[in-house]
Amino acid sequence: MEVTVIGSGTIGGYAAYLLAKDGHKVSIYEDHEKIGIPCHCTGIITSSFLEMVKLREGILLNTLSKVKIFSPDGRCAVLRCNDIVVDRIKLDEFFTQMAVDAGAELIMGNRLREIDMQKKKICLENKNGKRTISYRRLVAADGPNSRVFTELNPGIRRRHWLGAQAVIRGRFDREMYEVYLNNDYCKGFFAWVVPESGESAIAGLAVSERPSFHFEKFMKRRFGDGFKKDISGYRGGLIPCYDPGVNCRKGDVCLVGDAGLHVKATTGGGIIPGMKAAQALAESFRTGEDYENLWRKKTGFNLWSHLRIRKMLDRFTDADYNYLVMLMGTERARKIMADSDREYPKAFALKLLMAEPRLLYFMKHLF
Ligand SMILES: Cc1cc2nc3c(=O)[nH]c(=O)nc-3n(C[C@H](O)[C@H](O)[C@H](O)COP(=O)(O)OP(=O)(O)OC[C@H]3O[C@@H](n4cnc5c(N)ncnc54)[C@H](O)[C@@H]3O)c2cc1C
Repeated sequence: MEVTVIGSGTIGGYAAYLLAKDGHKVSIYEDHEKIGIPCHCTGIITSSFLEMVKLREGILLNTLSKVKIFSPDGRCAVLRCNDIVVDRIKLDEFFTQMAVDAGAELIMGNRLREIDMQKKKICLENKNGKRTISYRRLVAADGPNSRVFTELNPGIRRRHWLGAQAVIRGRFDREMYEVYLNNDYCKGFFAWVVPESGESAIAGLAVSERPSFHFEKFMKRRFGDGFKKDISGYRGGLIPCYDPGVNCRKGDVCLVGDAGLHVKATTGGGIIPGMKAAQALAESFRTGEDYENLWRKKTGFNLWSHLRIRKMLDRFTDADYNYLVMLMGTERARKIMADSDREYPKAFALKLLMAEPRLLYFMKHLF
């Protein structure tokens, strides 16, 4: 089967690899001239990622065993975790190379401009101008601003968070990342400092509006007024918010990754859910089962659970965050957090509630 993939980010590259490996004739059209650049991602993932992929050397930057969560009143809880930090540019290159090695054709510097789903044609633009080609099956992995998304979901107005972050030099405990819960400078999301090594970290936040203003405020508080001299680069981008009403398949067109809103609304993590959706896509091409059903089975419920938790967190006051961090610091809660995988929020939340029933207090924000 001929498959046209739009976008060779993490998920487009991975999906193209799975499809080419299954014997499909895959062509990938990527807008940029270099894979992975510009990079907008932090690259932190739960270590269950390593069960999905065997990475080549140089992609895994760091392993994190602790997370320090700060409440608005400055108190903190240190919890155990099992996360990794990857070099996002190298990860994208790795998946794309795997796709090419499996037989996919990669065409760089080509941007999808228009799609005519009735005639099954797309208009691509490169430095020589525009041209129209036909497709048999189209997989849109064209990221958070997906052009194809709107064709499949004319009635959905996407909501995005605006991420702003920088790579900053300094001295860091390389095993521990920091999370800041605070309505002052990261209302509706959180701020983070994620070490890539003992000497460098990615620090930033996501918000609904004025990202530069809030970023500057956070960085000054965390690193002091002169923080800019230690910055070696900026990264920023859009984080799409999951919507359970999203259509990810219409006829021979499928959306995957950020284009399909396959992102956890609690953390903004899109790598693992996007990869699960890509696996569902490959399975649907193999078995003839509907992709829409398959991706929902694989990851839809988890994404919905993350969205519920996000809606609850959106109603938190600073006093709620202070109380939450206090409860998370208790020995019982810490043990559950250490032994659980946050990819599966329902199981995680249930265990946590059983261990620390005072967390039920926050249920008032669910409804
Ligand atoms: C600030 C920030 C921090 C993040 N941190 C994390 C994290 O720590 N962990 C995590 O799991 N997730 C994180 N994410 C989310 C993660 O980056 C995305 O979920 C992930 O990149 C999705 O991959 P994708 O391939 O779907 O989209 P993208 O990575 O956006 O790739 C889309 C590709 O399509 C190409 N493209 C776009 N439009 C077109 C077009 N019209 N024609 C041709 N090509 C096109 C682009 O050039 C790009 O290469 C973060 C996001 C942001 C913004």
